[in-house]
Amino acid sequence: MTDYNGYIATETIEGADDGPLAGRTVAVKDNISTEGVQTTCGSAMLDGYVPPYDATVVARLKEAGATIPGKTNMDEFGMGTTTETSAYGPVENPVAEGRVPGGSSGGSAAVVAAGDADMALGSDTGGSIRCPAAFCGVVGIKPTYGLVSRYGLVAYANSLEQIGPIAPSVSEAAELLEVIAGPDERDGTTRDASEAVEGYDFADAADGDVDGLSIGVPTELLDGADEQVVETFWTALDDLEAQGATYHEVDLPSVEHAVEAYYVIAMSEASSNLARFDGVRYGQSGGYEGNWNESFANSREEGFGEEVKRRVLLGTYALSAGYHDKYYKKAQDARAWVKQDFDEALSEADVLASPTMPVPPMKRGESLDDPLTMYLADANTTPVNLANLPAISVPAGETDEGLPVGLQLVGPAFGERTIIRAGSALA
Ligand code: GLN
Repeated sequence: MTDYNGYIATETIEGADDGPLAGRTVAVKDNISTEGVQTTCGSAMLDGYVPPYDATVVARLKEAGATIPGKTNMDEFGMGTTTETSAYGPVENPVAEGRVPGGSSGGSAAVVAAGDADMALGSDTGGSIRCPAAFCGVVGIKPTYGLVSRYGLVAYANSLEQIGPIAPSVSEAAELLEVIAGPDERDGTTRDASEAVEGYDFADAADGDVDGLSIGVPTELLDGADEQVVETFWTALDDLEAQGATYHEVDLPSVEHAVEAYYVIAMSEASSNLARFDGVRYGQSGGYEGNWNESFANSREEGFGEEVKRRVLLGTYALSAGYHDKYYKKAQDARAWVKQDFDEALSEADVLASPTMPVPPMKRGESLDDPLTMYLADANTTPVNLANLPAISVPAGETDEGLPVGLQLVGPAFGERTIIRAGSALA
């Protein structure tokens, strides 16, 4: 165990003797199934649950020779932006004392930042790889929807999420992406993208060559951001310009509604996905005493934390007859609009750049009583999931106080090589 609480379990899983990741450690977020090793999703509901099979990404890590040093701590079921909602206690930011590591893959980013794993896997439904990467000063990639198999990932909101790499540098993140990417017959939403991504060769794209790269800056994603974050962002863009890139402003008017649309869709999908945790199919037994409704209710009352309950309730409400059109359908319309806006902006630029998070890492404990403010911190990351696009977060610099700031680069669908190339000019 680490003193910043990055791991939930430190059981070692050995991979093959050789392969591209031989001799390296890759920590795995605790919502990704590992055969024979407890997988809790940061929830008391799954305490002691041991999956009988490996997620596809875990099987690929083992084949590639990686050693998995443990399962990393996370916001319960991936719901959060600070990694403070885990039933196994909050994670501390190892590089910024008294601050949160970001979430929900806070444990994964923290163990990489602290040097307790060479690399890690996280999952990103609305920013959960990019946010903790930004807050801990490391690199994180959220792949295009369909590039990486979700088989064995415990679902939070399936239409939005992807598993992706977290690493100290862009080239290492690209190497890890290369191992886990590619179609999987067990996940019908994966696509064969070998042509678009040049045979899944990501590592060789990290050549730092940004000469002639055109960068669009959506002004909406700078509005309302912390002053020092914005300053650090522009310094990083100037650095890219000095290396041969150009930038211009672009419009993404729909992003104003992205956070609302994201939370309606994510909570709706979550309310359906989490129905399986009833103490019968999965989860702690609710102690049957002649009434199944009571038994289910007991199991969910005891097993779920406050944030998960809030989301199941809101999601169930948004999907209920009479309200479906008012909330869920509207959110889907907004999602289509966000997609359109990104397509348009990316027809005039190779990549789009913004601060990954509009704020530096929050003080610990600050966000717990104010979920709405926490949701709003996802303003720059959630639109990318709505549009199913790839994005990378790279360290851009620090605030005066020494707090890490991340720069997000968004690319067109299956444009991973472009964002890797651009990001590698900075980290
Ligand atoms: N903070 C967002 C949420 O709580 C994103 C989480 C994620 O990407 N898993 O839903």
